[in-house]
Amino acid sequence: MNTPRSLIGLEASKCTSCMLCVRECPVWCISLSAHSEPDPQSPPGGRQRMVNVLDEFTIDFGVCMYCGICVDVCPFDALAWHGADAGEKLAVAARDELVHDKEVLGLSVFDDLAVVDELNGEV
Ligand code: SF4
Ligand code: SF4
Repeated sequence: MNTPRSLIGLEASKCTSCMLCVRECPVWCISLSAHSEPDPQSPPGGRQRMVNVLDEFTIDFGVCMYCGICVDVCPFDALAWHGADAGEKLAVAARDELVHDKEVLGLSVFDDLAVVDELNGEV
């Protein structure tokens, strides 16, 4: 099946900040920052485990060549293509607005693009 290569969305709660997508992107248009915190699910009495917490995640769609490698390599299915109409809904006038942050990347396949209409004041 052909997947419409519109824009890519991020489900931040699934992202472990493993950096695989950042390293595999051929044009280096993904960036992220994260920090470590004690894992609240560490068993009591055991060694304290740490988990990565995602702070920032951006994709610059002014540079992205829509190859889909990031979607394919993510081991946690945190990245996915938006629906076919996302390009139109998320269209912007200025080039620097093509850098989508975690919030915009999260408006997606995983939620409902109606949220975008809401943000754009169209509902
Ligand atoms: S689709 Fe390709 S170029 Fe675009 S962010 Fe993903 S890996 Fe990078
Ligand atoms: S490959 Fe997936 S889990 Fe790893 S940093 Fe990228 S989006 Fe997050």
